[in-house]
This record gives sequence, structure tokens and C-alpha cells, in this order.
Amino acid sequence: MTLATPLVDIGVNFHSKQLTGLAPELIARAKDANVGAILATGTSVESSQSELALAHQHPGYLYSTAGVHPHSADGWNDTALELLFTLLEDPACVAVGETGLDYNRNFSTPANQRRAFGAQLELAADTGKPLFLHCRDAFDDFFAMMRDAVAGGARGVVHCFTGSEDEAEAFVELGLDIGVTGWVTDLARGQTLREAVKSTPLDRLHLETDAPYLGPKNAKKRRPYNEPANLIWIARAIAELHGVDELVVAQACTRNSERLFGFSNQGLHL
Ligand SMILES: [Zn+2]
Repeated sequence: MTLATPLVDIGVNFHSKQLTGLAPELIARAKDANVGAILATGTSVESSQSELALAHQHPGYLYSTAGVHPHSADGWNDTALELLFTLLEDPACVAVGETGLDYNRNFSTPANQRRAFGAQLELAADTGKPLFLHCRDAFDDFFAMMRDAVAGGARGVVHCFTGSEDEAEAFVELGLDIGVTGWVTDLARGQTLREAVKSTPLDRLHLETDAPYLGPKNAKKRRPYNEPANLIWIARAIAELHGVDELVVAQACTRNSERLFGFSNQGLHL
């Protein structure tokens, strides 16, 4: 790897079954592949706890989020809120999320999703931490809730963005950043996203593998799961779309992630 600027992977699900027990080797390969910091995604109270515990084993390299995913919003309660708040007091837990709305299959009712999301927006306001956001087939409600939150000072990234150019533009105008996964390398299903990424300024994009999901289609060697070492392939796809060198994309995205999540520089010089 010849890139001088380390990359930051803002979305890795170490808690997923597919990655159980693999964290040490995933992290070793990520370091070899010039990934300078990783944000581990919490999607439930339990996984938010386990991702933070893992972050403590890799100080200055691994950070975590704490939140309840919209799929699990039916289980939201005051205990969850208190437990997330406790996790967010830790400096290595740098964002509230994954939280948002997902009306695609409504694993939780839309009303419960809005309730859990609203509470987590307040949690972000109370802790002053940025948001790691999920929005699928719920643009109107999501946007309305975020507009109010941003007016109150909220900041965040819409992770694994797969929407249209118009939606990306609306989020960016609102002040939110856009997280790009290997979806952008999918020439069949990713065309809408590719148009959106092309028209989004580099100073608003973040790179994320969303491992173990969404393996980049342009990656050369493949394992049965996606991993942070594949992050460069997403930077390359964005570089092609913007007609710039991949180094330019790396520098911009790393700067954006450092700015949003306040990573220390400690882990970014390997
Ligand atoms: Zn998501």
C-alpha cells in the first residue's frame, strides 16, 4: 500500500456473528492496508457494550458508537437510554448510533422507530456527540426529525447512504455528512448512489466498509466476509467518480472523519 494518508473506516460490525473472534486478525490486516482508525458500530445496548470493550483493547485505533438500530426499536426503553448514556461518557465511545429510521421491512413499528430515534437525538444533544445515522425508505420522516435536531446543534453522518442525488444534496445542505460503502462499487445496483456520490463534495464524504456486509465488487481477493482492509476499494471508486487521485479522496475523507468524531491523531500514524 503506497498511500501516505491513513484511511478511517467509520463502520465495522465486529459484533456480527460472521466476525466473531476475528477482531485481532481483522485489525492486523487493516493496519497493513493503511487503515489508521476504525469506528466500531453498536446496533443494540449489548453490541454497543461489546464494541466499546473491544475499543479499550485497541486504544487510539478503535473507537465505538452506542445506539439502538431502528430494527430493534420495539425494545427501546428507559433502561436502554440510561445504559447508552453511561457508555457515551467514555471518551472512546465517540458517536450516538446506529440510530435512525428504516421503513423497508419495518422490523419495528414506524411509531416505535420514531420514538427510539427521537430519544437518541436527545441523547446526542445531551452528550454533545455526533450521530451515526441510518435511513432507509424513510426519507421524509427522517429528514423532518433531523432538521429539528440540526437546528438544536446536532451533527452527524448518514451511514451507508444509498439514496438519490437529491437526497444527498438535501442532507449535505442540512449540514450532515454522507457515509459511502462498497455499494458504490456495484455497477448494477449502485448507479443511483454513484450519481449521488459524484455530485457530493469530497469534504462531506466518509469511507466505511460496513463489514462484514457489502464487500466491494472491485476488490481483488475476497474472503467470505467484508473487512476493513478492503476500505481502499471504496476510496478508489470515489476517486474514479470524482476524477481525482485516490490520495485526494483519502485525505479528504480522513480529515472529515477526524473532524466529525474528534479522533486523536495518536492512532493515525502507524
Ligand atoms: Zn445501517
